[in-house]
Amino acid sequence: MSQQPSAAGAAQALPGHPFVAYHGAELQVENVRLSQLAADHGTPLFVYSKSAMLTALAAYQRGFAGRHAQICYAMKANSSLGVLQVFATAGCGFDIVSGGELERVLAAGGDAAKIIFSGVGKTRAEMRLALNAGIGCFNVESEAELDVLSQVAESLGLRAPISIRVNPNVDPKTHPYISTGLKDNKFGVAHEDTLRIYQHAASLKGLQVVGIDCHIGSQITDATPYLDAMDRVLDLVASIEASGISLAHIDFGGGLGINYNNDTPPAADALWAQLLRKLDERGFGQKKLMIEPGRSLVGNAGVCVTEVLYVKPGEQKNFCIIDAAMNDLPRPAMYQAFHAIVPLLAKSGDAPEVRYDVVGPICESGDWIGRDRTLAVKAGDQLAVLSAGAYCMSMSSNYNTRGRAVELLVDGAKVHVIRERESAADQMRLERLVAI
Ligand SMILES: *Cc1c(COP(=O)(O)O)cnc(C)c1O
Repeated sequence: MSQQPSAAGAAQALPGHPFVAYHGAELQVENVRLSQLAADHGTPLFVYSKSAMLTALAAYQRGFAGRHAQICYAMKANSSLGVLQVFATAGCGFDIVSGGELERVLAAGGDAAKIIFSGVGKTRAEMRLALNAGIGCFNVESEAELDVLSQVAESLGLRAPISIRVNPNVDPKTHPYISTGLKDNKFGVAHEDTLRIYQHAASLKGLQVVGIDCHIGSQITDATPYLDAMDRVLDLVASIEASGISLAHIDFGGGLGINYNNDTPPAADALWAQLLRKLDERGFGQKKLMIEPGRSLVGNAGVCVTEVLYVKPGEQKNFCIIDAAMNDLPRPAMYQAFHAIVPLLAKSGDAPEVRYDVVGPICESGDWIGRDRTLAVKAGDQLAVLSAGAYCMSMSSNYNTRGRAVELLVDGAKVHVIRERESAADQMRLERLVAI
């Protein structure tokens, strides 16, 4: 299946979305008109640009040119198999946070040796699964976890490669729910306990210390917290190595932001030019570097296409009711997050411009997708919710017994269905009526 780009006018890319552009009046992802995809596949519908993902990845690859570095895509941002396949094929490793994610990476053809396993609550069963698969590193988040992992590895006759996640106690100045590197967060071990915990790890027979890691938060739009965190982590590397424990790699986590709403995060290559300068100055430039970007690789590669079901004027507010909802796009309800919302047809003509709250059909007042948006729409018009590649489908649910949306991967003029629309039967498959 393929469509030709509409002929009229130069393409006008949307801010932050290099592969989403109006060609004349029609919004396209790469060479494909979204209105055609909505007609072929229905709505709500996620559409991802392969070129946008590879372009985002290329910025990191340029940043690390000539270095010993490994990029591990933090797959919780978008764990669909077709997305993982793009990154696996491009040579990426993966940062996983559950046994389920491990199974997804392996199903998508990812290399187990390039997997790092993060998270504060790994179970013994997940540890066994990952050890048997031969993953590259466990990013351990507490002293208690070290002891359990060592026991599990010993019971399998293996040694678990580990890194300890340290909490550099820097403020990434992002939303409190996505800030992870402050003292009162549940993640990582405290800076002042790190050396002692490394010595404990080095004494455990089931473990092999290979690295150190941190991850300070998400949607970070400023280089300063990264530079501060790097200083704090390198202080620790120096003291750990001085105590006789050598560290083969340093993992700086993920967290680089994207442009949702006039945000201006540094480009990945520019950020890493600064960070590498600091590493070199402090004499650690030869170490293996690992990073775990999630949102910045996929966030602006995706849009969610939705149809206006009703417009509902009111005394205080006007509502634009769409067929996508908080089960598809949970970020506004969870974090008051902003997604830009634009029409599929730049000038649909007859509807007046009105200020709307754009809401979904779910029976919750929290089910809003955008507030106070000026739109010229009527029932039946289609909209694109932008920046929908990260933390949307992977956080989606079946609330209100709504099936998950279709997902498409666009590659030039080619369209691949990477997930079919979920039916009610799919949702009920594991349930049983009681024999009464
Ligand atoms: C979520 C997460 C990431 C990725 O964060 P982004 O903001 O999506 O880049 C990386 N590392 C760890 C440990 C995480 O929990």
